[in-house]
Amino acid sequence: MSSDSPSYEQAAALVSAFATQLAKRVPPTERVALGAASTRVLAQQIRADRDQPPFARSTRDGFAVRATDASTHKFLRVVGSTRAGQAPAGPLPAGAAWEIMTGATVPEGADAVIMIEHVETAGDRVRLLPLQRVSSDENIVAQGAQARQGDELLPAGTAMAFAQLALAAACGCSAIDVFTRPRVAILTTGDELVPVASSPAAGQIRNSNAPMLAAMVTAACGEPWVLPTAADSAGALDKSLAAAAQADMLLISGGVSAGKFDLVEPALARAGAKFHFTGVRIQPGKPLVFGEIPGGTARSLPLFGLPGNPVSSAVTFLLFAAPVLTALAGRLHPGPRFALARLAKESDKHGKPGLTRFLPAFCNFNPPAGHLPEVALVPWQGSGDLAALARSNCFLVIPEEAHRLDAGAIVRILLP
Ligand code: AMP
Ligand code: MG
Repeated sequence: MSSDSPSYEQAAALVSAFATQLAKRVPPTERVALGAASTRVLAQQIRADRDQPPFARSTRDGFAVRATDASTHKFLRVVGSTRAGQAPAGPLPAGAAWEIMTGATVPEGADAVIMIEHVETAGDRVRLLPLQRVSSDENIVAQGAQARQGDELLPAGTAMAFAQLALAAACGCSAIDVFTRPRVAILTTGDELVPVASSPAAGQIRNSNAPMLAAMVTAACGEPWVLPTAADSAGALDKSLAAAAQADMLLISGGVSAGKFDLVEPALARAGAKFHFTGVRIQPGKPLVFGEIPGGTARSLPLFGLPGNPVSSAVTFLLFAAPVLTALAGRLHPGPRFALARLAKESDKHGKPGLTRFLPAFCNFNPPAGHLPEVALVPWQGSGDLAALARSNCFLVIPEEAHRLDAGAIVRILLP
């Protein structure tokens, strides 16, 4: 990291501007079955193919009435019945009631539904109980109240999750156009790394960043492409970088610190990379490298050199790589997600000055009503502590200028 490294805010602004430029490129599209569309980014608009609801719908089991008739509390004769799924029936004559089920079409002429729990029945007649009231429109959702036929319900660029899938299904989209997922090369580096299935010899560790980053890429709407691990040698890195040139984005893990075998930056330079920054004033993740390898054609390869410590890799991915990836995927509103929470316990006082910190923390997202979520740091042994990372569900943000945060303070948290 050079001494003039950008602050977190400066680096985030740079990445955000870069992502905005990328978002102008429209990715290619493909058609997928709706059932396979979760986490995919919509390439088309989804419009209402008919009014929603498509008919005036009862939200209760009970009796469709004219509110003025029912409000007399006199017995009304039940002249018909409609179940969910039946074609519209009616009309409802004046002074009568119509049996109706939840989800059924309200007969023409009725302007309210009285709940079955609120009536007294006598043979084929019902009346509203004396203590109950009913007003016009009660328990009815009017045709088109949620959306009109032709309304845009989802714009292109929407990431498909459960609610969007359900809405697309309601609009009759059994297949949808989505953007092809950007292929993200994941290149782990380090002589100490062995594959997950191997038994590490003395001094070796398993490669945990490859599966971690692959999962993070998938969650950020990309397609992971895990390359074989590169050894800490110039030759191995040159070869791996040449292979990665086929990707849409490149994540390198490890080899970006200042050590004797941190050879990634020179290898990137030999590959023709342009660097946007080579260090950020954050902890963990200070040595983060952000750049691109200009392509022969119009396309260049955005790249991040993530510090190899697992917590550093995770934090820098969320803060910087994910926004670039989501923009590349054609998704609207890329960018890390932050929220406010109340700090349960005073934070430690030993932060390095001048660095914004993002520390593994656990937040209770189910606070009592009227209270902010409460967050506490997870005890950790530094940025290699995967067990602490796995116990956390967010990162507590400690601003550059804050030496410590007091219990009860309202703080920002970075969401995964
Ligand atoms: P580096 O950034 O290469 O200096 O690595 C920093 C620390 O992260 C070292 O302790 C490495 O052993 C560890 N590390 C690097 N790459 C990985 C990986 N793929 N999986 C797990 N730990 C890693
Ligand atoms: Mg290394």
